[in-house]
Amino acid sequence: MNSLFCSPLRYTQGYDATQSLGAEMAALGLSGPVLLVTSPSPRKLLEPVWAKTLGDAGIAHVIHDFAGECTSAEIARIVAVAGAAGAAAVIGAGGGKVLDAARAAAAELRVPFVCCPTVATTDSPTCAISVVYTADGVYEKTLFHGVNPALVLVDSHVISRAPARMLVAGMGDALSTMFEARACVAAKKPNTRGGACTISAMALAELCYRTLLADGAEALRAAKNGEVSPAVERIIEANTLLSGLGFESAGLAGAHGVHNGLTAAPGTHAFLHGEKVAFGVLVQLMLEKAEQAQVDEVLGFCCSVGLPVTLAQIGCANLPDDVLDLVAARATAPGEWTHNEPFPVTAPMVAAAIRAADAAGHAFLAA
Ligand SMILES: [Zn+2]
Repeated sequence: MNSLFCSPLRYTQGYDATQSLGAEMAALGLSGPVLLVTSPSPRKLLEPVWAKTLGDAGIAHVIHDFAGECTSAEIARIVAVAGAAGAAAVIGAGGGKVLDAARAAAAELRVPFVCCPTVATTDSPTCAISVVYTADGVYEKTLFHGVNPALVLVDSHVISRAPARMLVAGMGDALSTMFEARACVAAKKPNTRGGACTISAMALAELCYRTLLADGAEALRAAKNGEVSPAVERIIEANTLLSGLGFESAGLAGAHGVHNGLTAAPGTHAFLHGEKVAFGVLVQLMLEKAEQAQVDEVLGFCCSVGLPVTLAQIGCANLPDDVLDLVAARATAPGEWTHNEPFPVTAPMVAAAIRAADAAGHAFLAA
């Protein structure tokens, strides 16, 4: 198996970075016309900025209002609108679903994709993957595209306007990256692109974890005050770039498998991806029989930024055994990330690890 590392061509982050969108695209040789896919709040905030920056760069653009869910039908609509506009590139500006739909349309059209996340809530912006849902919001499939975005442009001023909870959830998603990378390497499992992990991807995953420990709590304090401090910039980078490159080029394992399992418990539906992933990290550590010092470090970090450490904190207080069994079965379904752990994982093992993680969380909170 070859080692394989992939990334966007260019990553740009900064306060009011949107003002540089046109120049950044021009620097990559991208020209118009472009289709810009977005949702109401980014459009309200940024439409004049897009007009100026793209206009200054001589890039004509058409805006497509995202229908609200990343469905096959919405991707087809974007492809049709882009085709009618003769789009030479697609820009996505918004949250994960907007970006995933725009990314999938660009891949289908074989034109470059420019990714402008307006929240730092997951690590998906840099990757070449779209998650597709039904119109009712039920998971349908994951699309693995050939190429990563040409440009990922992250405006920290825009991101600072989102609720602090979004940034915290992004830290939860980023928390999993190093632990899942280590599991995949120990198991000699391929990364999400079918190659072996490079030492570069592992180094980025480890830096991601160290950055969370060093800057997470301070970034949350600043974010709550609407400040874009250096710690906030570093956490945005950890949540987006470090975690994104780390998960895609190193791999996913128990934490994301448990996350997918937890979606079978109705109580978790009000919680964000990264919040469930954070609890999934604890479960993965229980599965792996990690050292107590490592467990305590993760628990301490989670508590310092308000990430969940108990079932009650993800809407599953008094989780019945039959629902737990459903969660564990879903987490160990064939092909699930859980099977990237370096030992066979069964549903009863996951159920026991979920109870153990919950107990560890309660014990830590009580201490
Ligand atoms: Zn994730």
